[in-house]
Amino acid sequence: MSKFTFTGGIHPFDGKSLSKDKPIVDILPKDELVYPLSQHIGAPAKAVVAVGETVKRGQMIAEAGGFVSAPIYASVSGTVTGIAPHRIVTGDMVESIIIKNDHEYIEVEYDPADPDELSKEEIIARIQKGGVVGMGGAGFPTHVKLSPKKPETIDYVIANCAECEPYLTSDYRRMVEEPEKLVEGLKIILRLFDNARGILAVEDNKPDVIDKLKKLTKDESRILVKALKTKYPQGSERQLIYATTKRAINSSMLPADAGCVVDNVDTIVAIYNAVKNGIPLMERIVTITGDCIKNPVNFRVHIGQSYRELIEEAGGFRTQPAKIVSGGPMMGFALFDLDVPTTKTASACLCLSEDEVSEAKSTNCINCGKCLEVCPGRVMPRKLMDLAVKGDLEGFEKLGGMECCECGCCSYICPAKRQLTQSIKSARKIVLANRRKAK
Ligand code: SF4
Ligand code: SF4
Repeated sequence: MSKFTFTGGIHPFDGKSLSKDKPIVDILPKDELVYPLSQHIGAPAKAVVAVGETVKRGQMIAEAGGFVSAPIYASVSGTVTGIAPHRIVTGDMVESIIIKNDHEYIEVEYDPADPDELSKEEIIARIQKGGVVGMGGAGFPTHVKLSPKKPETIDYVIANCAECEPYLTSDYRRMVEEPEKLVEGLKIILRLFDNARGILAVEDNKPDVIDKLKKLTKDESRILVKALKTKYPQGSERQLIYATTKRAINSSMLPADAGCVVDNVDTIVAIYNAVKNGIPLMERIVTITGDCIKNPVNFRVHIGQSYRELIEEAGGFRTQPAKIVSGGPMMGFALFDLDVPTTKTASACLCLSEDEVSEAKSTNCINCGKCLEVCPGRVMPRKLMDLAVKGDLEGFEKLGGMECCECGCCSYICPAKRQLTQSIKSARKIVLANRRKAK
């Protein structure tokens, strides 16, 4: 089996055995669900319901705030009890709609369609109306991503099936249990790009998925299954594009500039649901795992359910965690409050008994060069950290600081436990904010 990959990267402990063989469990939410109006990149959505109003499951409760934005839908039926700031996973307070669940699950009527009968414009409109955004973490509105200036120049639609972050198994379970939806969703995207081929890019630690997808696509002349070498961060957009097509992009380019469109597994399934069934994005698979969780599991959650609820449903804590993360250990957010809602981009909640990062003492650099070796962005993490700490943003940019994909490989490998990623990430944030101000 040929193996596709990129330069650099690491092989961290993957922790996936805790939940990879746990089938997806449907759970019903408790009494209150919270829907932040900003759960995507772009303009916040605007509430279209008022306090006291009753809503049905599948009803739009907030409309898109612009082209680069996405609507939000109620995942339960009930009553709107508040529209007010609520804490989210990043710790920020964000204007949110709060719904009291009536536990009836009364749904709106959906509007199914035959994707083969739809025009390209109709497909895009259904994705936009369905509130589909990148569910791998970025939350970029999918209808924008699928509307490049020159669609005829797109050669590849890449389904990101790598799931390279340690501990995460939600995509894996989706591919084991519902691979048909992934393939059908990819075929819908291919309808938009006449010259493109579809690539299902899967890490080789999932041989069962590779076999399954190969069988399902054996008669699909436009779809290829590619086995990727298991290595972190194989699923990072730039690394994935390089591994599958040998095309390189930098921070000032979009995947479309290299003739590629990339979407992750859950996003492609959401596209399938929105286009074929007319069902908007209201649910997603979330892995609840880590050595502190009694019963690690993959839940199908109603977006808006709280992390506390999901942890309780997984049996609660076996031991008190030292660290709780929303997402994976490499790129997730440390969680300090469990009463925050799951959103369209929530992939996991990881509860660990050891917090290796904050417990480790940082010492002087010993010039071992390991950070340089593993950096997939091909930049110099040690030097970038020095410039970031000094506040030399000009030097930071000149040395390619913006090419960092914030993967965390340098911090992971550093024997001196230097805060490389954190410093580089902070400097990047300031540069991006300055660029926005200058526009
Ligand atoms: S500098 Fe950035 S891209 Fe390079 S290893 Fe560190 S976090 Fe990853
Ligand atoms: S890995 Fe750490 S100790 Fe080694 S060169 Fe990089 S910063 Fe210095």
